[in-house]
Amino acid sequence: MNTRTRANVLPITENDAFIANALESASIPTLMMAMIHITGDSSLLRGKVRPAKATMGDTHGQIDSQDQAEIRKQALEILTAYRDGDGHLPPMPSRETILAMMRFFVGEEVPDSYVPMMLEEMDLECEDTRGFKRNSEGSSPQERGFHVLVIGAGMSGLLTAIRLEQAGIRYTVVEKNSGIGGTWFENTYPGARVDIANHFYCYSFEPNSDWSEYFAQKDELRAYFENCAKKYGVLNNISFQTEVESAKWNERNSRWSVCLRTREGNEEDREFDAIVSAVGQLNRPNIPPIEGKELFTGPSFHSAEWEHHIDLRGKRVAVIGTGASALQLVPEVAKKTSQLYVFQRSPAWMFPNPDYHAKVSDGKKWLLAHVPFYARWYRFLLFWPGSDGLMPSLIIDPDWPHPERSVNALNEATRVSFTDYMESQLDKNQELLDKVVPDYPPFGKRMLQDNGSWLNTLCQENVDLVDSAAERITPEGVIGADGVERRVDVIIFATGFHAGKFLSPMKIIGRQGTDLRELWGDEPRAYLGITVPDFPNFFCLYGPATNLAHAGSIIFNSECQVRYIMSCLRSLEEGGHSAMDCRKAVHEAFAARLDEAFGRTVWAHPGVESWYKNSRGRVTTTSPWLLVDYWNWTRECNREDYEFIE
Ligand code: NAP
Repeated sequence: MNTRTRANVLPITENDAFIANALESASIPTLMMAMIHITGDSSLLRGKVRPAKATMGDTHGQIDSQDQAEIRKQALEILTAYRDGDGHLPPMPSRETILAMMRFFVGEEVPDSYVPMMLEEMDLECEDTRGFKRNSEGSSPQERGFHVLVIGAGMSGLLTAIRLEQAGIRYTVVEKNSGIGGTWFENTYPGARVDIANHFYCYSFEPNSDWSEYFAQKDELRAYFENCAKKYGVLNNISFQTEVESAKWNERNSRWSVCLRTREGNEEDREFDAIVSAVGQLNRPNIPPIEGKELFTGPSFHSAEWEHHIDLRGKRVAVIGTGASALQLVPEVAKKTSQLYVFQRSPAWMFPNPDYHAKVSDGKKWLLAHVPFYARWYRFLLFWPGSDGLMPSLIIDPDWPHPERSVNALNEATRVSFTDYMESQLDKNQELLDKVVPDYPPFGKRMLQDNGSWLNTLCQENVDLVDSAAERITPEGVIGADGVERRVDVIIFATGFHAGKFLSPMKIIGRQGTDLRELWGDEPRAYLGITVPDFPNFFCLYGPATNLAHAGSIIFNSECQVRYIMSCLRSLEEGGHSAMDCRKAVHEAFAARLDEAFGRTVWAHPGVESWYKNSRGRVTTTSPWLLVDYWNWTRECNREDYEFIE
């Protein structure tokens, strides 16, 4: 029987030995929380076994093996009794008990201000607490014929489609690719996987107990999003291989006139009442203008445009770049090539994470699927240590005496521990260590995850780390700062994306003929990263200053943004308005707060170049906000922030 019971778990039918075996894979603090729910007895909170402060990568709260065994023994008794009983679960613990559980669970104070956000993120009762709720019985947008265009069918566009579908609002999704998944559709390079823990990198309302790895690979991620599209019935509303060329606000009827380029290559003019741009920040490949690039006689391609027909076996290959994509593809490429040169303009900081390539055991999958509340608390355990708690280590201390290498004492401690981690892998190879330890502060650029495979690969005989930018390309090779030509058969550009060119190449024209691209120039700004004055009913997902660089998952941010947009649509519906336009004063005040906040963060550090910054060194892509603040600001649109158009 596959029916899910309360708490959205499958019934337990397995024998004691099976359960005991599965418990060997349990995260002990998570198991303790489930035990309290199943028994209704919270005395564990007052027992001698207490998890230490939660840290990224540790799911056992440093509980020693003897105590772990004791908890497993108790859990076995509880789970077998639950299995043999009538499946009934006690009422939900009181709010006070849940709060005590949270604090016990992560071994530190969870401030009151975080409790509502964390309760919602955990969604203990599996009620999809972020789902769309209509306040009134007024005429629905469907009845009024209100029609929303969603641009993009990646993670955030799909999420929007799901919410619109649930709300009964008419929508059309256009997607430039031939399938769903955005990043996970486009990036097919070997080794591509998510580097945010997967049991948290999934929609809060669509958990998955079947992830085969803690950081799943591209095909599994793509399949997850495809399954969501099917399950929530949005597939029929998606037009694939269709791009928006331009959109123009029509003052006459308060609608957007949109020019689409269809699969057949034709232009098609359509009208919509609102537009949600879900085009992402990282999908327009950036190949830098390296001198001589066009002279190279062999194949060359970008990491996001992988040429699968090119066989790298036995070839000499250059990979240019050492960012997130390179870190994943280099170990895979090195397995095939006779010689691999990796051109590193600047090294990357990385979190040690032994689970980065690890498989999820069958026992753990079973626990996630069968033990009431286990999966919900596990999500919290992944969320919390990589959350706002990191922010203090990223704020520049103006009195810190070593500003070139770290931004404050906490940041320095991170530097020391990450450096120790690298040193421990290099067996006194000082030459390589000098090359791979960054000279800028940790977190200054996108942090990467590592299980040792990066340095292990760099130590291979057929791999050479060239400690400089690729400065010139010749017909037969690549030249770095040392002037030496490395002769290669293939060049792979792992050189990132045009992240700062938001919404490019679409042309978006708002009120009074304002061109969004001209307005933004090199410095895009949007209120909450979502709305821009003079662009009524135009909403951005993953817009300016919404990339998460300190913590969280971009799915969390998208869920906040989509909820906000849905509340905007509800405001239109309830007020009988046709459009809403962000007030300029609101937008400007937000932009000023943004600038002030950025100036204090490690991302603005003058010694760091990254895709977070524009050509003048100002941060434009990344969010400086605490997750809890952003969550609060986006819970509901404040109608006073907008001018409504009848
Ligand atoms: P990226 O982080 O922008 O990295 C580009 C790399 O190219 C940098 O190392 C850059 O050096 C280097 N570069 C540029 N020109 C060069 C030259 N002439 N010579 C040598 N190196 C040069 O791009 P990415 O790795 O594609 O990642 C982009 C973002 O996508 C990531 O930050 C992440 O948010 C996302 N991503 C996520 C995942 C994941 O979750 N699994 C995987 C891949 C990507 P500098 O550092 O000196 O600029």
